[in-house]
Amino acid sequence: MDENCIFCKIINKEIPSTMVYEDEYVCAFKDLNPVAPVHVLVIPKIHIQDLEHVNEENSIYVSKVQEAFKKVSEIMGVNETGYRVICNCGEDGGQEVKHLHYHLIGGKKLGAKIIHD
Ligand code: AMP
Ligand code: ZN
Repeated sequence: MDENCIFCKIINKEIPSTMVYEDEYVCAFKDLNPVAPVHVLVIPKIHIQDLEHVNEENSIYVSKVQEAFKKVSEIMGVNETGYRVICNCGEDGGQEVKHLHYHLIGGKKLGAKIIHD
């Protein structure tokens, strides 16, 4: 855990969040500034800075995050309508919080995908 990390503090319940799902490896909570009716952040319960810091030792947590998306989508009621998962990495990726997190966004028809600039 990183004592200066806001998401580690959320994991430790040192700061409040609207938690929608939690298990041994993963937690998921509502984004403070939602961009759609459903906007949940799914994070590993271990401090991994970003995708560049995933390795053999911590990848079990990332695998559990992958498993959690369908649980969160069901809880949030978007499992049938669909959703988008976004993971920003580093400076050019626009990552603001330096704890690996995946945005699960849905509840409306989303706009164009940003694959090109
Ligand atoms: P990113 O730009 O991918 O690093 O996204 C960081 C996200 O974290 C933003 O969408 C913020 O709205 C969200 N965020 C920051 N602080 C909190 C918090 N305390 N609780 C919930 N979401 C947060
Ligand atoms: Zn952290």
